[in-house]
Amino acid sequence: MYLLLPFLNNIVLILFNCQNKQIYMVIAASIKGASKEYKTGDTVITALQPTTFDFMKKELTLIIGPSGSGKTTLLSLLGCVIFPSTGEVYINNILANSLSEKELASLRLNNIGFVFQSFNLLAPLNALENVMQPLRLSGISKKEAKLKSEQALAKVNMESRATSLPKNLSGGQQQRVAIARALVTDPSIMLCDEPTASLDIRSVSIVMEELKMLSDSGKAVIVVTHDLRLKQFADRIIYVNNGVASDKPSEDEIFHN
Ligand code: ADP
Ligand code: MG
Repeated sequence: MYLLLPFLNNIVLILFNCQNKQIYMVIAASIKGASKEYKTGDTVITALQPTTFDFMKKELTLIIGPSGSGKTTLLSLLGCVIFPSTGEVYINNILANSLSEKELASLRLNNIGFVFQSFNLLAPLNALENVMQPLRLSGISKKEAKLKSEQALAKVNMESRATSLPKNLSGGQQQRVAIARALVTDPSIMLCDEPTASLDIRSVSIVMEELKMLSDSGKAVIVVTHDLRLKQFADRIIYVNNGVASDKPSEDEIFHN
């Protein structure tokens, strides 16, 4: 059983566990009946069927599914990078569909951090300068940006490599710098698209543990993957198959485990 209550501008989900003890969870993002179709020429591809989910702060949600199943589409809707064909996307209680491009850009900057498979670090900039980028773009002074970026690097245990160029860092270290860059603006939602796909197994654990720590500290962390080994780090799993998202695995997935 659960109750939904508005509380200090947040929607709080109150759950009752088996001992009837109340558990408070704050919703960071919601999608309600959101779907996505892509039209190319005469053909229409339904990348995601109408989907309804709430994403909680303090939770690491894994979105798992095979290639082409609609995972990136779901994440892109949550990141307000694409508009849904139907339905609604709410970010911290703000209906994203209704916003102008400028308002959307500001919503993204203030609420959402992105981490991608390919790190996307700028090659001529060192780790610290890469992390400073989003702050510099939002007009924060160089001194303050440097301080905040050093703190973000420390959160992922990369402060000792602040002056290293990306090419002198391992894949795992580059990904941790990319995580620091995503969290330097202190977003409440971290969206990660296949963040461990180019990493060796040891780096996978380190990166996932860093992401788990961020969710424990209060952020909603949402990780897309096709790697079933990441399940052990998840508080919650959403399965995507052929454009259908569900909190239950399909028979195929059960069979493969
Ligand atoms: P995944 O991330 O699980 O690999 P995607 O969400 O990227 O899957 O894609 C889901 C489906 O939508 C695929 O069939 C893909 O080809 C299609 N698709 C994704 N983006 C576009 C696009 N911009 N235009 C046309 N089709 C797209
Ligand atoms: Mg993808």
